[in-house]
Amino acid sequence: MNPYLEERIRELGFRITPQRQLILEAVAEAGEKARIEDIMERVQAKSSAISQATVYRTLEIFGAHNLIHVNVLDGQRVYEVAGENVHHHMICQSCWSDEKIPHKVVNEFVDNVQVKYGFLAQPHHLFLLGLCKHCQEEEDKKQISKEEEKRP
Ligand SMILES: [Zn+2]
Ligand SMILES: [Zn+2]
Repeated sequence: MNPYLEERIRELGFRITPQRQLILEAVAEAGEKARIEDIMERVQAKSSAISQATVYRTLEIFGAHNLIHVNVLDGQRVYEVAGENVHHHMICQSCWSDEKIPHKVVNEFVDNVQVKYGFLAQPHHLFLLGLCKHCQEEEDKKQISKEEEKRP
């Protein structure tokens, strides 16, 4: 387990059973945007006795304690082990590319919100959905060719 998580768990006084440890490791191994099936596959490879309901419930507990990030992507929950570096994702809805935005960029937005509305936002893992630079250019090209078609 990564040292950051070990420390987080210690701070929380969170009881980490061998089963929970196994599930946490499965999330780490499954990488970013891991779906329940990806995690389940890894869990069952190590212990077939753990049910999907248990894994699901455990993931919710981990999420509530910020040991993992839970986001929704394309209507499905996706999981990622929390790391030391707070980061956010820019995910393209056309090609599903994924780029990271450092927290300091998001912090400028957080500051603006606080100044304007007095609300202190505490985003720790944002999924910004949109169009990447490449796909925007593709969209523009499509737009242009459509307009050309319309011309008599
Ligand atoms: Zn992430
Ligand atoms: Zn794209």
